[in-house]
Amino acid sequence: MRQIALIAHDGKKAEMVAFVKDHWDFLSQYDLVATGTTGSHIEKAGLQVRRVQSGPLGGDAQIASDVVEGKIEAVIFLRDPLGKHPHDPDINMLMRICDVHNIPLATNIGTAEIIIKGLSLK
Ligand code: PGA
Repeated sequence: MRQIALIAHDGKKAEMVAFVKDHWDFLSQYDLVATGTTGSHIEKAGLQVRRVQSGPLGGDAQIASDVVEGKIEAVIFLRDPLGKHPHDPDINMLMRICDVHNIPLATNIGTAEIIIKGLSLK
């Protein structure tokens, strides 16, 4: 089964949990993969997700690798535009890899909602 990747910077984790809860009926049709801390927040809310490393430890790079291998249907990446991140190079790499492979990438809730709607029409 193809996967949806979920990543949220610290300032956006509560928004991510709310988004996943709101769309659980749809999202649970997919295998979900999340960066470490985002995944543990989602799990604490009682929802299942496969966790890779935390973002700063290479989790974004792991998800980029899954994109390259054709495993990922869409990436929801709630970035905090007001924060600084030590792993900015990895973040840019993930976004570039999504563009290279034409994988839908949402960086805010507005786009994430549109992606969910689009995928549900497939
Ligand atoms: P995290 O990583 O889910 O482990 O916090 C997200 C990120 O900062 O890229």
